[in-house]
Amino acid sequence: KLRGGRARTQQFGPESLTRIYAITSGKGGVGKSTLTANLGVALAARGLRVGIVDADVFGFSIPGLLGIAGTKPTQVNDMILPPVAHDVKVISIGMFVDTTGTAVAWRGPMLHRTISQFLTDVYFGDLDILLLDLPPGTGDVAISIGQLLPQAEVLVVTTPQPAAADVAERSGLVARQTGQKVIGVIENMAGLLQSDGTMLDIFGRGGGADAAARLSTPEEQVPLLASIPLSIALREGGDVGAPIVLSSPLDPAAVAIAGVAAQL
Ligand code: ADP
Repeated sequence: KLRGGRARTQQFGPESLTRIYAITSGKGGVGKSTLTANLGVALAARGLRVGIVDADVFGFSIPGLLGIAGTKPTQVNDMILPPVAHDVKVISIGMFVDTTGTAVAWRGPMLHRTISQFLTDVYFGDLDILLLDLPPGTGDVAISIGQLLPQAEVLVVTTPQPAAADVAERSGLVARQTGQKVIGVIENMAGLLQSDGTMLDIFGRGGGADAAARLSTPEEQVPLLASIPLSIALREGGDVGAPIVLSSPLDPAAVAIAGVAAQL
């Protein structure tokens, strides 16, 4: 159970200098959490003070991706201090459910309260950047973020597949309806480099550019920030909690993720 003081409600309030990026996708399984974890680490490696809030209730995976599965936050007086992994401060829904994980069958109000408490009762200190890993789709959490953090900017993750790009576009539009600015699309799983040097487009092509074009308006261009290839190293790094932006920085996927970090 989350407990803590009520005094720090303005940690990420309107006067906060922290840049907040909500990472969203239409569908699950497109690599949103893997990218969020690696992006956070890449930003920290650039010398920025970074926090990640894992609000992906049903699929929380950030602690595992960063090698701190099972680590609990510490409580000092009424302050909850987030665990730190690879210089990134991390708080996850997964740190507050029992080991069976059954407690994630939460309804909207409970979710809203939990996320609100993450933002108020967890002491992050001064951050340059806060990343939010949102659940896929367009549900309660996106609306909560819209209310709690209207200044959050949105990054949309999609695969190159047209169907994935369609739902990615929809989740971007919902973010815009809740008042947030969509600042870019990241295409993931964009081809597999073959030993002969050619790319095998397992999930097709063009979904990222399509979603970006369709989310763009005359007033607001939404760029495609990167196309990240399929990468065994990226997947394995996630499995063992060793983000490849540190362990294999020359892997093309790591280079592409670092490229996104440089644009934020
Ligand atoms: P989501 O958060 O969108 O549900 P995940 O980050 O959990 O997606 O990724 C889904 C699966 O795909 C994971 O097993 C992850 O390791 C793998 N994965 C993600 N991106 C890539 C990639 N570029 N290359 C290879 N595997 C990837």
